[in-house]
Amino acid sequence: MTAHVLLLAGTEEGRSLAAQLHTDPGIRVTASLAGATRAPLPLAVPTRTGGFGGAEGLARYIRESEVAALVDATHPFAAQMAANAAQACAATGIPRLKLLRPAWKPERGWTTVAELSAAALALSPGAHALLTTGRKEIAPFAARIDASFLLRVIEPVSGLPPHMRQIVARPPFPLEAEIALMKAESVTHLITKNAGGGGRAKLDAARKLEIPVIMIDRPTPPPGPVVANIADAVAWVAETVANHR
Ligand code: NAP
Repeated sequence: MTAHVLLLAGTEEGRSLAAQLHTDPGIRVTASLAGATRAPLPLAVPTRTGGFGGAEGLARYIRESEVAALVDATHPFAAQMAANAAQACAATGIPRLKLLRPAWKPERGWTTVAELSAAALALSPGAHALLTTGRKEIAPFAARIDASFLLRVIEPVSGLPPHMRQIVARPPFPLEAEIALMKAESVTHLITKNAGGGGRAKLDAARKLEIPVIMIDRPTPPPGPVVANIADAVAWVAETVANHR
């Protein structure tokens, strides 16, 4: 019997893992996307889209779809989904793995803060910050009318206050382009989240230009097994599914 694995996706790692698990005839994988991106690249496995309706909704889905194991490969800052997954797996008694790409290591010139509001407080008056925290997370910065902000967003934000401007752009952002942007815009600070992974050219550009970085630390994942790479996640699924049979 093939075991049904639910893959909470929405990251590059989730996409790669889907492609790898797809080749295993012993399992049937369903990927899940939040639906936040308008035209996501297709995944190698059947994909459902949209929230489950909290931890209870996810637990219902797990029971109804006879999910045998869950891999949470959501973004390191997707704390709500991670918590829901932990709760739903505990409630239904199925194993869960968190696939979490390594964080960027602190560097000279960084101020690490625990959350968005602390990042807003850490900024000096008169600063002009490049803000890459995402379009839903600008409220604490909107309150800092003694500074100005250049938001980089994938989808445009409407109704920005006068001290905030936006550039709508999609990654990847090469190093030379990051340097050119920071110079052209006279950026004094970079405010970003410790997402880890490949999108670090902005950090290299800031270091080169000696621009201070305000780095928002990751939320702590729920207790339970965590792996940092695709190979370990594939091995976990193989072992977990073998125990299930
Ligand atoms: P979240 O706040 O943890 O999740 C909010 C809700 O979205 C969940 O409760 C769930 O709804 C639904 N959801 C999330 N992931 C899902 C999935 N894979 N399948 C089905 N439903 C899902 O997570 P988020 O809204 O995705 O993102 C939160 C943070 O992560 C933000 O800081 C954002 O900037 C960051 N993020 C960044 C990227 C990126 O590429 N840079 C990508 C994703 C997220 P129900 O409760 O209804 O099930």
